[in-house]
Amino acid sequence: MPHDKVRVELGRRSYNIEIGEQLLDKAVFYKTEHRKVLIVADANTAPLYMSKVTAGLTASGATVHSFVIEPGEQHKTFATVEKICCAAVKAGLDRRSLMVALGGGVTGDLTGFAAAVYMRGIGFIQVPTSLLAMVDSSVGGKTGADLPEGKNLVGAFHQPEQVIIDIGTLDTLPPEELRNGTAEVIKYGVIMDSELFAQLETVNCRISREIIARCCGLKARIVAEDETEGGIRAILNYGHTFGHAVELLSNFQLSHGCAIAVGMAMAGQLAVAAGLWDESDNKRQQRLLETAGLPVRVSGFKPADIWAAMGRDKKKSVNKLTLVVPVAIGKVELHNDLDKTMILEVIGSCCD
Ligand code: ADP
Ligand code: ZN
Repeated sequence: MPHDKVRVELGRRSYNIEIGEQLLDKAVFYKTEHRKVLIVADANTAPLYMSKVTAGLTASGATVHSFVIEPGEQHKTFATVEKICCAAVKAGLDRRSLMVALGGGVTGDLTGFAAAVYMRGIGFIQVPTSLLAMVDSSVGGKTGADLPEGKNLVGAFHQPEQVIIDIGTLDTLPPEELRNGTAEVIKYGVIMDSELFAQLETVNCRISREIIARCCGLKARIVAEDETEGGIRAILNYGHTFGHAVELLSNFQLSHGCAIAVGMAMAGQLAVAAGLWDESDNKRQQRLLETAGLPVRVSGFKPADIWAAMGRDKKKSVNKLTLVVPVAIGKVELHNDLDKTMILEVIGSCCD
């Protein structure tokens, strides 16, 4: 079976991302001999993949325990982190033990957070099963939970010991979740990889192992350069300042992928209006988003409300709103001097 390996270079905390097919029940987990492991999955991924991952970890020499959490963003709370930690105590996990996150981004963020704080920090392994988690949240060490006041307001940087991606798990992923992840894949093309963008055009956004490995490689490069988001990592927020605003205004009825697709459409439109980007490239982005079944417009919101909600994004810089805007397919810039009236007009042009 073909198999890709991507290295995340972080000195002593470097790790590999293994990407292949039918990996989960194999002895692909290393440095797990004689360690206790708690696999955390949600109620959707547990019945599908828990027994496979249990077999893989057992074959790798670990003693395996499991814990199932409730699925969905509404359970991405401190309370769930506490439940995971209590399950770890019950299973007898010590400072040498491991947690394994088996599922989408929610499971990954929560389990990583639990691993970051359990006994002041133990190791963990990411086994992402959603496209979004494979290409985005499982790589880079961001973990966390939501507060009633907002998403991802608490968390920790805690790098995994390895990431195991079995692309076969995408077969059971609901189509709308696949679309969600495709928005982030397209994002990588626009911000830093024109070849990937062209490849997505050629295959009409059909996701393959090769494409996933390429995205992981891009994210690994950015994370290695800027582990804690002081600089270059900010380009990953392309489409996210506009996107988070519409996501928030929709009360999260709009999925993350759909919201950032609209966000990328707005950022692209803004780049054209500011004279930074060719209209033809903007059209290419728009077409590719549409090919993936993603929206490029929203309805039911007032542009001024979107603008106001943009200010509440926790990722904004201290006083000025910094936006990531494309200047070519495969290249973006950060701008904090774009005119408010122009931004409002652009938002309006993407609203029905
Ligand atoms: P994210 O989009 O950040 O990955 P979630 O962790 O909430 O967010 O995952 C999205 C949904 O897809 C959840 O309901 C989760 O249980 C489900 N899911 C994740 N991976 C799979 C899979 N391989 N097969 C079926 N359902 C899955
Ligand atoms: Zn995102």
